[in-house]
Amino acid sequence: MDTSVHENFHALGLSEALLGDLVKAGYTSPTPIQTQAIPPAMAGRDVIGCAQTGTGKTAAFVIPIIERLAVLPKGQPQALILAPTRELALQILATIEKLGAGRRISATAIMGGADMQAQVRGLRQRPDIIVATPGRLLDHMWNGTVNLAPIKILVLDEADRMLDMGFAPQINQILDALPEERQTLLFSATLPADLTRLVQASVNNPVKVMVTPSATTADGVSQALHHTTHDGKADLLVALLGQEQDTVLVFTRTKHRADKLGRVLDRVGHKVAVLHGDRSLSQRRAALEGFKRGTFRVLVATDIAARGIDVANIGHVINFDLPNSPEDYVHRIGRTARMKTTGRATSFVTAEDSLQLRAIEQLLGHAVPLAPGSASPSFNAHAPRGLQRSGRPAQGRPSGQRDRRYAGHGAPRGEQPVQRTPGN
Ligand code: AMP
Repeated sequence: MDTSVHENFHALGLSEALLGDLVKAGYTSPTPIQTQAIPPAMAGRDVIGCAQTGTGKTAAFVIPIIERLAVLPKGQPQALILAPTRELALQILATIEKLGAGRRISATAIMGGADMQAQVRGLRQRPDIIVATPGRLLDHMWNGTVNLAPIKILVLDEADRMLDMGFAPQINQILDALPEERQTLLFSATLPADLTRLVQASVNNPVKVMVTPSATTADGVSQALHHTTHDGKADLLVALLGQEQDTVLVFTRTKHRADKLGRVLDRVGHKVAVLHGDRSLSQRRAALEGFKRGTFRVLVATDIAARGIDVANIGHVINFDLPNSPEDYVHRIGRTARMKTTGRATSFVTAEDSLQLRAIEQLLGHAVPLAPGSASPSFNAHAPRGLQRSGRPAQGRPSGQRDRRYAGHGAPRGEQPVQRTPGN
């Protein structure tokens, strides 16, 4: 067995069985969020973790859950993990299966868009952990097919995104159904003001752990801008794709634009998949799996569908359309340069985008430089005061305000939770 893993993770007081699974998973040393969050979580404390996808936050809550549940009597679900999207729920499930094998910890996923009866069968197996999106979990609660009374550990993963997606009412109903006597671990990329009520309602005397921006995902991302027009974007993209071999994740603003762009790229011979909330779960799985395996070199996605995408080798993120909020820009470029490798992020900008670009650069604290060969002096007029745009790609991650709220960021269609009351 790899002794370095023992030395590094051993300090966290983990069992031999779990250490063995960490070796198999290729985890050599704990990430900063793991070093900080695992000890208090293993000791039963409530934890608020401020960390984005890509920092190792999933294992930061999965590892202590596995260790705590392994020593409890089996036979009923004792941990509940709530996540905003199906993709994230499936990734958490995969992490539990990977790291929980030696400790014989089982889990099932409950999410919208998947077969309800299959989920009922999964619940009847009495898994140790339930991973769920809030809306579908409520469906099961109303149907009486899930019982939350035995839950001892609750995780709220990507809590800020769950609120952004309008899940607050569902989360409140789930909190009401959970035993008050429990441990809660709340993870969020940002800690905006409206998370305070959820924090007050869910955690008790929490330990706060935070990974500083410099330790998170986007270190090593070189960012660049391409000036173009609305109609010139597709040609520009095709030209850029022709110049490289990297795997590329392309973001569009709407599902319709994602579909349309997918067809264009397919026609010119690119191996492309499309991921958005109107696609069926099996289509989304096929797109992600194909992208991971390399069957598709290009994945065209919308923000919500791409949330939590965990593909290690994305070399280039292209913002075909700028995102609606500056925070989404940071989330998007965090899809590349995962776990300390380097990556590129290129944004297409039209004259109409100047205000959005300005907001992004204000959040970043620096201007995004022009890509080689792209020049539009008129755009420099829109750079935030004091921020100079250069022709050199910017390295590194934004410093500055991380607790800013998404402005007017509604739930995209297809991901919108349906609000219902029992009996309806
Ligand atoms: P997450 O932030 O949970 O989405 O994790 C991002 C990626 O990092 C996933 O592919 C994990 O499998 C991987 N990962 C998490 N912790 C470690 C670790 N300690 N060493 C190596 N890889 C890790």
